[in-house]
Amino acid sequence: MSLKEQHLALSSGIGLAGFAVSNFWDYSSEAFDTFKDEIIDSIVKPKKITAVHHYLSFFQDIYEEIDKMRKNLDDMKYVYDFITRTLDEVNLHPNLPKPDFEKCNDEYGHFECGCSEIIEQWIGFVSKNAAQIDNLIVHSAFQFVFQDRGFLRNFHLELAKFIKNEMDYIEKKYPDCVTAKKRIKRQPFPQWLKSAVFHRDKGTCVICRCDLSNLIRQQNQIHIDHIVPLNLFGSNDASNMQLLCERCNTSKGDRSTDTSFINVPFWNL
Ligand SMILES: [Zn+2]
Ligand SMILES: [Zn+2]
Repeated sequence: MSLKEQHLALSSGIGLAGFAVSNFWDYSSEAFDTFKDEIIDSIVKPKKITAVHHYLSFFQDIYEEIDKMRKNLDDMKYVYDFITRTLDEVNLHPNLPKPDFEKCNDEYGHFECGCSEIIEQWIGFVSKNAAQIDNLIVHSAFQFVFQDRGFLRNFHLELAKFIKNEMDYIEKKYPDCVTAKKRIKRQPFPQWLKSAVFHRDKGTCVICRCDLSNLIRQQNQIHIDHIVPLNLFGSNDASNMQLLCERCNTSKGDRSTDTSFINVPFWNL
């Protein structure tokens, strides 16, 4: 599917991103342990599915969410509306019968009428497609988290502790991706990643804000920088990158995790 044809479940993604970011300090180490192998696979070389995706997926389970809702609520209409809203967002349109709540007299649970049976069919559809739905909501949530460099720095500082602890395991799994100094080895940046970082950082160096678009002057060279340097047990995870100019890149060195908390709003107040 081309970039222009992507459906993103942005409303669901905002909800997940907010929840995962605000619970980061309580759950990060548990999530890193749960997805240990998946995270290691994502960080030795830049991959489109990042460590942040795995962290987000720790909180995302559409089937469990609906199941809880169904058990705790008497309101079947609420459950049905949630399901159809979510399916619309992920661009799934099953050909299933629709309950007619307007005409139905059974307002308590809809067990006597046919509604409950119809809703079971919808829940069955969600359950069959749960992996696809969850992946799309996680990727949608990633769109928001990726814009928050301050959070990404904290994320990769915590991940660095995990990497340091797991270095022997990482080396055993990926001997070619670890240096003699026991750090993750530098890797080339694929074009999709350069382009994503350039657009997120709006073509400017995140530290000194100089223009790197080369629309004005053809002299500033673009540098993709590891927010948490490899030397400090940072990784090649695609979410650990930012845009710097040559001067800032050189002065940042391999011991600093400098980033900028300046974000450009759509308009000024
Ligand atoms: Zn009913
Ligand atoms: Zn700069």
